[in-house]
Amino acid sequence: MERFDVVVIGAGGMGSAAAYYTARDGRRVLLVEQFSVGHSRGSSHGGSRIIRHSYVEPEYATLATNAFALWRELQTESGERLLGDTGGLDFAPPDYPTLLGRMETLDSLGLTYRLYAQDELARDFPQFRLPSGWVAIYQADAGILSATRCVEALAAQAVKRGAVLREKSRVLSVHPDGAGVRVEIDGPAGRQSVLADQAVLAAGPWAGRFLDSLGITAAYAAPLRVTHQQLTYMEVAESARPLFAAERCPLYIGLPMPYFYGFPIWERPGQVKVAREVDGPAIDPDGERTVDPVAVAEVEAWAGETLVGVIPKAVSTEKCLYTLSPDGHFLIDRHPQHPQILLAAGFSGRGFKFVVTTGRLLADLAATSPGDYSSPLWRETFRIDRFVNGPIQPSVDTANL
Ligand SMILES: Cc1cc2nc3c(=O)[nH]c(=O)nc-3n(C[C@H](O)[C@H](O)[C@H](O)COP(=O)(O)OP(=O)(O)OC[C@H]3O[C@@H](n4cnc5c(N)ncnc54)[C@H](O)[C@@H]3O)c2cc1C
Repeated sequence: MERFDVVVIGAGGMGSAAAYYTARDGRRVLLVEQFSVGHSRGSSHGGSRIIRHSYVEPEYATLATNAFALWRELQTESGERLLGDTGGLDFAPPDYPTLLGRMETLDSLGLTYRLYAQDELARDFPQFRLPSGWVAIYQADAGILSATRCVEALAAQAVKRGAVLREKSRVLSVHPDGAGVRVEIDGPAGRQSVLADQAVLAAGPWAGRFLDSLGITAAYAAPLRVTHQQLTYMEVAESARPLFAAERCPLYIGLPMPYFYGFPIWERPGQVKVAREVDGPAIDPDGERTVDPVAVAEVEAWAGETLVGVIPKAVSTEKCLYTLSPDGHFLIDRHPQHPQILLAAGFSGRGFKFVVTTGRLLADLAATSPGDYSSPLWRETFRIDRFVNGPIQPSVDTANL
């Protein structure tokens, strides 16, 4: 039977990063993916994800600083352009609690931003039209991650560091086996069992099945909920394209619920990507993905009101999946009874920027003994037993991005 130090289940963002950092630490790693690296059935595909510091909760704002550093390091190592430094704008009424909370946190951490009154914003960023009296905060330390390219770079660097990548291979089950694990895989060569010292479960929207079978969902009241999200591409009028170029246009988030957000021209020539966060019903990650025309119409209406020069008509719409934990915080921890199994799940709509910090943290947890949480990337909000140790305290920064 084949033997590895660490088996990583899932080569989306989190799993590819975990494989990369554990391989970099000198461990013998197997990375298993049911589809192919860069596929579009999970949560990490597409051309753009927001990275920013503006969170109400300081633990995310400080983690974002670590994330920027690790993304830059990966960019250098891979030679790929992964990160665009566009800056970012958050719009809201001046007394909107999430905006005030974000400003307070940025102030307390000494992170720089500028508060724009409406007329100042119209002068410096005439591509945006806000409702009367609204303000915006601008952060230079925000930008865009080219998501699929990031995942491909992480998986490629993991392989370069010695990890074995198996695509089109589905992990059927993970079993504690003495102090190690036994992992059952169904791949192109048929069914196979692999032994390892540790397993990292990074199965994204499919993670709930593993959490159920390993007793986590029931024992730790940690059910995950998977929801559909959709992203709409729209054409920018020829005359407005210079203003929506990434050199002139930051990413943008409209804070009051429902949250709309979007990007400059980045993925596709002459088009912007705009979306609205949707808190829809729980869905099956293997189920059908049909576009919701009502949600598309809402995004078109918002773009028509807010984005000056964008033709508010969908050119195309794509789907993606959120995996939500009960409180909106991530689950990253060792299995309480089987610490040789590490879990990383529930990354909602804010996880991508933290792919590198999560991968590094998982490698740190894998390299230390159970009970050791000395990694600088550890946050108490990640604990898997937090729902049984106290009441659920939802993340106060309700915009997931
Ligand atoms: C529309 C949308 C917009 C977003 N915007 C942002 C943003 O602006 N900023 C931000 O920071 N975050 C954003 N996010 C969130 C971020 O993209 C996700 O949190 C992150 O990508 C989750 O990564 P993951 O590795 O957990 O999941 P995935 O990328 O889905 O990876 C899980 C992988 O595990 C594999 N897998 C599952 N089961 C098995 C099995 N049994 N055997 C083998 N392989 C298996 C899957 O095929 C998949 O490849 C957004 C998400 C969406 C959907």
